[in-house]
Amino acid sequence: SHAWTLVSRPKGSPSMENFALRDIPDQPLKEGEIRVSNSFFSVDPYMRPRMDEGDSYIAPFELNEPMTGAAVGRVVETRSERYKVGDRVSHFLGWRDSATLKAENALPLPVGDLKDEYFLDALGVIGMTAYFGLFDVAEARPGDVVFVSAAAGAVGSLVVQIAKLRGMTVIGSAGGAEKCDFVRSLGADHVIDYKSPGPFEDKLRAAAPDGLDVYFDNVGGEQLDAAMGVAKRNARFAICGMIGMYNSDAPIGFSNLFTVISKRLQIRGFINGDFMARRDECMAQMGYWVSKGLIESRYTIFDGLDNGPQAFFSLFSGGNTGKALVRLGA
Ligand code: NDP
Repeated sequence: SHAWTLVSRPKGSPSMENFALRDIPDQPLKEGEIRVSNSFFSVDPYMRPRMDEGDSYIAPFELNEPMTGAAVGRVVETRSERYKVGDRVSHFLGWRDSATLKAENALPLPVGDLKDEYFLDALGVIGMTAYFGLFDVAEARPGDVVFVSAAAGAVGSLVVQIAKLRGMTVIGSAGGAEKCDFVRSLGADHVIDYKSPGPFEDKLRAAAPDGLDVYFDNVGGEQLDAAMGVAKRNARFAICGMIGMYNSDAPIGFSNLFTVISKRLQIRGFINGDFMARRDECMAQMGYWVSKGLIESRYTIFDGLDNGPQAFFSLFSGGNTGKALVRLGA
């Protein structure tokens, strides 16, 4: 099989020279192991900070080792009682066409018509991020005015929809007219093109003249600063990601930081893994919404293992709408 490895740590934006596709010889399975032919793997913004050295919530990628990440596939060989050939599983050995792993490190996926893509999106950790970030971390409730950035992306597009399903007023931001149309089509009440000229904070204030109850932050930087400026007293911020800052080590200035005190803002960071013990609760609710057709999932699919790095780069240039995935074996 073949896997992408990181051969050097990017400085600033990642580029092809940081990656190499390597052969990984298939060893015979050991007792308790399975071999999975991957159908899709996920590319995610958090993989960029994983390319740097240093402390984070997940160990950095090791140079010259196969990279990892969420993937879905089918068991093609098994030496475990838990799985038979043909079973569909998700696991964490993405960035490769075929994965050999201990059976206990795979998650069985339901038999049925749901496409593999869902399990790397609404019915996987992306769904958990949106659900727990919005309802638990930000404690968003019906009637709240909620602002979500990167609203045309994987997490953001789910946040828009589940916030509307729970009776909130939703403001979404995205880059460019096409993406803004998509966010509107998901039900957002107001959409802001953050790439249009003029201070973002003015546009946010125009969309939320009475202020924000909740900000679901996917980007950091200017939009976070603006949200602090427009927040109501006691507003809750779920800090999910800061993609606008991942390729830069320049210090960021905030002009509204003092409002954290003056408005008693509650700013809470979180990681979806913090909520793993409550996964079933989330999957039951998301599964219900998906099965009733109440959640639209959009994918940007890159075909073939060769396109793995391109798929990843697209996250930073806004080349994806909805969940960015790499499809294998087509
Ligand atoms: P997306 O599908 O949203 O893709 C990233 C999007 O970010 C792009 O499509 C682009 O949209 C936008 N973007 C890129 N650069 C910038 C920039 N400089 N300023 C503003 N927007 C930018 O990715 P995900 O949904 O997977 O992730 C969204 C965020 O959530 C990320 O920050 C990620 O790290 C975080 N995350 C956190 C998790 C957690 O457990 N805490 C779990 C999963 C994700 P556009 O064209 O609109 O600019």
